[in-house]
Amino acid sequence: MRIDIVTLLPELLQSFLHHSIVQRAQDKGLVSLHIHDLRDFSTNKHRTVDDYAYGGGAGMVLMIEPIVECLENLKSQREYQEVIYLSPDGPQFHQGVANELSLMENIILLCGHYKGVDERVRQHFITREISIGDYVLSGGELPAAVVADTVIRLLPGVLSDESSALTDSFQDDLVAPPVYTRPAEFRGHKVPEVLLSGHQKNIEEWRFEQSIKRTRERRPESGQNPDKN
Ligand code: SAM
Repeated sequence: MRIDIVTLLPELLQSFLHHSIVQRAQDKGLVSLHIHDLRDFSTNKHRTVDDYAYGGGAGMVLMIEPIVECLENLKSQREYQEVIYLSPDGPQFHQGVANELSLMENIILLCGHYKGVDERVRQHFITREISIGDYVLSGGELPAAVVADTVIRLLPGVLSDESSALTDSFQDDLVAPPVYTRPAEFRGHKVPEVLLSGHQKNIEEWRFEQSIKRTRERRPESGQNPDKN
């Protein structure tokens, strides 16, 4: 899979690119990540990419020309299944969207800044919008990293144990069961007996019951919540 991220702040994404699972996925050739500095597509010598909003008001707006220049440059080289604009008022990101994106070959993530992008970009050059929640960040870089990370860990071969992503929360509309590691007892707080039993069937049953219980408590609106049926 290839992910292109268009941003005003490429440096902000550097540590995301070079650590942990994302770095390993690139090393294994399972994903290729490309960061594009929007200023490289500016149409003037000052590398300006923003301007005042028509009609006045506080805050600058990212101009349409550099964005379209960049998107068209990328699209002339390969076909993209989605050109995604990260936006707080877009449809909210969830595991189902991540699953869907992980099946695609090439996607673009466009990060906004200031007041956002010229509306014509959203109307005519974007195929999808994603919000990571109902709050406003300063730029689309952290949302882009959230989306890319969630998608990358789903790609076959990225996690050393393939089943790990499948047992994470939300893959089946259930949240994950609790996990424990050594020591078996800490200041009187004990690990549930069943996990030490070595009896795999009982362990699986316990985990499933815990998932149901937690989903009921923490995500009562979830489709798998037995109270909903
Ligand atoms: N004026 C915009 C509004 O009120 O909807 C907010 C602009 S925000 C300060 C700048 C950029 O950050 C946005 O264009 C978007 O790319 C990104 N951003 C901020 N919050 C976000 C969120 N919750 N989800 C996705 N992107 C977000």
